[in-house]
Amino acid sequence: MKIGLVGPLCFLKFRTASVNRRERICRHSSRAMINASDLPVWNLSGLYKGRDDPQIDQDLAEAGVLLESGADHPRAVSLLARLHAFGTLYDGGRNEGALHKRVNAVALRSKVADPPPPGPAPGVDALCTQVAMRGADLWIAAGRPDPHPVTRQWSWEDARALVVEAAGSLAPAAGQAVDRTFREERVHARHPGSPLTHPAGDRGPYVRLDYDGSLKSVLTLAHEMGHAAHQMLSRPLGVMACDPRPALAETAAAVNEQATLRLLIARAGDVERQGLMAWRRRNLADVILRHVMLHRFEIVSRGRPDDAVWLRIVEQTAGLRAARAEKGDGWRAYPVLTRAPGSAWTYAFARLTALALLARREADPAAFPRKWTEFLSAGGTMDERPALWPFLIEPAASAYWQDAVELAVAEAETEAAGWNRRLSLSRPWR
Ligand SMILES: [Zn+2]
Repeated sequence: MKIGLVGPLCFLKFRTASVNRRERICRHSSRAMINASDLPVWNLSGLYKGRDDPQIDQDLAEAGVLLESGADHPRAVSLLARLHAFGTLYDGGRNEGALHKRVNAVALRSKVADPPPPGPAPGVDALCTQVAMRGADLWIAAGRPDPHPVTRQWSWEDARALVVEAAGSLAPAAGQAVDRTFREERVHARHPGSPLTHPAGDRGPYVRLDYDGSLKSVLTLAHEMGHAAHQMLSRPLGVMACDPRPALAETAAAVNEQATLRLLIARAGDVERQGLMAWRRRNLADVILRHVMLHRFEIVSRGRPDDAVWLRIVEQTAGLRAARAEKGDGWRAYPVLTRAPGSAWTYAFARLTALALLARREADPAAFPRKWTEFLSAGGTMDERPALWPFLIEPAASAYWQDAVELAVAEAETEAAGWNRRLSLSRPWR
């Protein structure tokens, strides 16, 4: 897992113009309310000072010599991890390619390369088929009105405490890992651009996001800290084994994000709860539908994207009304296609699997924390099937995806149906 893309991907599209305008206004006002100087930045002591620091070249050269001679492998790996960390930390994602190419050139020579992006896990075709069967229902649920949009602001301290508590409610070790990530000043909360958690090998994770106090940024923080807990707990495995497979990394993040949202919903008053649940319903449909569409689009277009193909896939996945509301070049809005090709399916996989995992937690709250700690601690040493097996989740089985999609539709429709009921109660003359 290299790129935490959920922020920019989850919150796009399927909105009416008025909702978009309202959100822009909220975002603008929230900027004024959060004082950026109160937000934390990375503690970079011990890392490189600047892109032109000659130490980079010295370390690259040293790592190359060590790896080729095989004389001091741990030191070489540590140097490469530091270079990786620096490459992301310093330039803020604007020009990552150049330094990563240099680092990877050394790594490739020594066969210490990042693994190639894995193909879709077993069962991803079944996932897409099941989503397409209920896609129109999800799309309609996403488009229903949101009567009480959440405009509340969360201070950094409140958001931090909430995210630590949510992670701890899944497993005490996860809560401790998140808390430690904050305390070690590994979070940069005022970094423009896409949110991201960099594994940085055995140096442990570094997290960046652009925190503005809104619900969206609280949940982005929760998502990224889910990645951070995964990497903190698997860090003892060493740099070669601690980096989880993308679908599992996104699952850990989605579970933390949804546990945080559930905590907020449980504590909200009536009006705020309605807004939070509407947000969850819309986000659920957005994430699942969009990423299934993007995955199918990648497969069908085979590197030659075409607007007509995109519209056909939108129609096949979310129905005719969705296709009529969609722009032909809608696929261009998604950086995942160019920044992390072949990984779009992982977000749909993760969001559905997070629902299933949280249902398992409700069914057996005593056993879940141990299993969740083991899941996070396994890092990159397991693929999807053995990692999820302790939860009795079999992603290769079509029946699993059928159940997971039904759970998603039920969650979206329950919220929407509740609102429809309230509407009819408040307007008895209709
Ligand atoms: Zn992510």
